[in-house]
Amino acid sequence: MSLLLGAVADDYTGASDLANTFTKAGLRTLQTIGVPEPGLDLPDVDAVVVALKSRSIPAQEAVALSLEAARWLRARGAGHVLFKVCSTFDSTDAGNIGPVTDALRAELCAGDPRPVIVTPAFPETGRTVYLGHLFVGPLLLSDSPLKDHPLNPMHDSSLVRVLRRQSEGEVGLVDLASVEAGADAVRARLADLAKAGTGAAIADAVFDRHLDVLGEVALEAPLSTGASGLGLGLARTLVRAGRSAGSAVALPPDVGGPAAILAGSCSAATLAQIVEAEKSLPVLRLEAEALVTNASAAVGEALSWARERLAHGPVLIAASGTPDQVAALQARHGRAEAGHAIEQASAALAQGLVEAGVRRLVVAGGETSGAVVDRLGLSAFLLGPEIAPGVPALASVGAGPDMRLALKSGNFGGVDFFTRALDLVR
Ligand code: ADP
Repeated sequence: MSLLLGAVADDYTGASDLANTFTKAGLRTLQTIGVPEPGLDLPDVDAVVVALKSRSIPAQEAVALSLEAARWLRARGAGHVLFKVCSTFDSTDAGNIGPVTDALRAELCAGDPRPVIVTPAFPETGRTVYLGHLFVGPLLLSDSPLKDHPLNPMHDSSLVRVLRRQSEGEVGLVDLASVEAGADAVRARLADLAKAGTGAAIADAVFDRHLDVLGEVALEAPLSTGASGLGLGLARTLVRAGRSAGSAVALPPDVGGPAAILAGSCSAATLAQIVEAEKSLPVLRLEAEALVTNASAAVGEALSWARERLAHGPVLIAASGTPDQVAALQARHGRAEAGHAIEQASAALAQGLVEAGVRRLVVAGGETSGAVVDRLGLSAFLLGPEIAPGVPALASVGAGPDMRLALKSGNFGGVDFFTRALDLVR
């Protein structure tokens, strides 16, 4: 089986977002955590998204990891590789978008003079690019909250300039007039830029239809760089061309058995979801202080509580606290220390629940989910139907236990998220 599309994503949540976008567009999609093991037994899928954590690491390391991921994808037949970056183009003058794009171009596009199409546009989420300038909603990037980002402060809205400062080659522009005029006009513009020796071209896109034009042209080359918007354009092009089944994705057969929910997010949405779940399930609210100072005893007690109840139905265990409780705990132990300790306790709980037979697991919290996935040794997921916008049901594939999961970023989902998730995580 040969892949239609591969993606190398520079962070985990961006990878999930892209994999979910592919799935909704009709591609059967697998997401891997890190570069997959060489022997991963790939199920019948159209697209694979490799999730790296390479956005803010030294450029040379990001290049090495991205090349390894791209080689894996190419070896599985991927005809096109999307380097997935943030829709706010998070990067610095040292990288990593430019250096990785340069390196992937040298690897994948040898002998192909066309510049790589680069666009973080995703109009549906308010990211538009006009004359190479990125807008976040109504604001120029440099006026948006991204100007104060702790790792990648964005002070220049001209992506042509931003990318030029971190690229070896020249950076050009595919302007909106060309994109609006259609695929042939974009091809002509790229041909002109190629003659001038341009290595990469920022592409304008203001409306959704522009993503389709860019996706169509990008797919004719081995490489593109962009956010989930460009991913959508690529996926729709494949589905329109009848190259993917384009049908709803079904997860592998249900695993059944006991189910549990772990909440480590302290977001307002998750707190309300826990209160709602209390109406229909047993809920254990953990003592956060004990999780930091005496984790193994606290985890052991919580697991005994769960074991007594799992045979009768799903249970929910929550570390989550209100903003006041979180602030008090952080004041006592430090922000990073408290967060890390509770993430590790959540991971230990997940491990204990799996040892107790749980194969259906719902986790609330981005960092919490990362800690749980790492601890359980899970290496890849097949994406199923959406439980809530941005939160798909998942089936594990490859290393680790055979599980059905939902991994939710804190603020996602309606108040009844947990019961909806249990219906789809089967
Ligand atoms: P979100 O997706 O809402 O940001 P995360 O899991 O990414 O959720 O982050 C929540 C953080 O809060 C984690 O580091 C978690 O360990 C920590 N945490 C969970 N419960 C508490 C608590 N009661 N007090 C302080 N920190 C907590």
